[in-house]
This record gives sequence, structure tokens and C-alpha cells, in this order.
Amino acid sequence: MARSVVILLPGGIKVGDEWHQEVELAPITGFEEDIMADSTLADDGSGRPAVSGSARMTKVLSACCVRIGKLTRPEGATRSTNPNFFETLWQNAFMLDRSYAILQLRALTLGKSFKFSATCPNCGKTHDVSVDLLSFGQDWIQPKHPDILTIEHQFTTPEGGNLVCWRSLTGSDEEKVRAIKDQRKSDQLTSILMLRTTRIDGSSEKMDKYTALRSMSSGDRVALRKQFELVEGVQPMLVPLKCSNIDCRKEFRSQVDTGDRSFFFPSEI
Ligand SMILES: [Zn+2]
Repeated sequence: MARSVVILLPGGIKVGDEWHQEVELAPITGFEEDIMADSTLADDGSGRPAVSGSARMTKVLSACCVRIGKLTRPEGATRSTNPNFFETLWQNAFMLDRSYAILQLRALTLGKSFKFSATCPNCGKTHDVSVDLLSFGQDWIQPKHPDILTIEHQFTTPEGGNLVCWRSLTGSDEEKVRAIKDQRKSDQLTSILMLRTTRIDGSSEKMDKYTALRSMSSGDRVALRKQFELVEGVQPMLVPLKCSNIDCRKEFRSQVDTGDRSFFFPSEI
């Protein structure tokens, strides 16, 4: 029996009427590696993969999941006979819980040290960086109750005074976020804000929301994103760095991307 780890999700997964934060995960095997490395393309000629990145993550999380709260696979079933047992629950899980579980799964399977390269935005020098993934986990604050993630929140922007109603994103939204990042190069930040925003100044009309978010000051948009982090209790995985180029020495931050292929394949295949 391979070693497994019990983690507490920052949010929680709802099974029936009950929220569960405790989840047991077992390390990744060759089966899930193949899911992640599958390079089969979609039939539509778009050049996109047949199975999206977030759908793969859902499959991996389901296969490696031993239990959610007390819920386990049915008697006699194993991860190889029934890998998709937890799939719907992980698909509906909050994005922050999915990212957190992926982070823990990576640390469990390949160790907590993660190496990546970061480019200084000022001079372009590339740096080899090594981080302790589990040190991020400690920064994730537990929300008071996962119910706060399912309700609509309100926030009044400090500069323009817009009343913004917003909600948390789930695994189903993750697909849309990836698609926005791939396809909408010009207005992706607005499009991602649109996904979360249910109403602005009372209107839920798509055009009204889009126009309001586009004309919102940068300060207000930053304040809105900060509010998401504050309520959801999640910290983006940002690594503070200082450029080693003696003519530059600029401080910058680089983000660890759990959705990136290199996150699970550090040495490429
Ligand atoms: Zn630099």
C-alpha cells in the first residue's frame, strides 16, 4: 500500500448536505502520468488537446483521492477499477481547493522542492529558482466556513464607488479561465473578472458588466482582486525574487503555475 497524506482543504467539498475539508490523497502513478501527458488533439482541427487541462486535473484528483470526509469508493472498488468515482465532486470543487490539492499531490509524489526559471521583467535575465511548495500551503488561511464560498458577496470599489456582486470559481469555471487565457489575448483580465462578477450596480446584463469593468480604474480592479483573496483566504503562489544582474538588481515576483505541464514533469519526458 503506497503512502498517502491527509490534508485539510482551505474551503471544502459538499457531499450531500455536509461540507468536508478533510481529504486523503495517494501519490500519482503511471496511470495518471499518462492522463497528464496525453497529447491527443481534438477532432475539430483547432490544435487544442482533446481533453482540456482542467478536465485532466479533475481526472488525476479523482484517481488519487482515497476519501473525501468519510466517503470512500464502494467496497471492493480500487483506484484502478473505479478511478472516476470522485470526478464529479472534484469538478464541482472550488478552484482554490483544487489548486491546493494539486500542490499537495505534487509535494507527495515528487517532493516539496520545485525548480523553475523566472525572467526579470526589467532586464530579461533568466534565474533558476527553487521553492519549498509546502511553505505556500501554510499561507493559505482557512475561511470561517465553506458556505461563504457559495454565497454572493458584495464589494463597493474604493475609487468609483461601484457596487460589485461576485462569487467564487469552481472546477467548471477553471475550463473557462483556461480558454480565456488561450483565446482572448486583448481583454483577458476583464473576461476573467466577468466570470466572477454576477452584478454591477444592480445590473446582471453582460454588456453592462463588461462596460463597467472595462471603464473601472486600475486601482479599483486591484482592490476587487484583493477582496477575492481576502474572502476566499487564498494567497496566490508568488515568489519574491531579486535580479542577480549587478546592473539591474530589481525586485520582482514570479508565480508558480500549478496548471503548467512542468509542474508534474520537472525534467520533461
Ligand atoms: Zn533584472
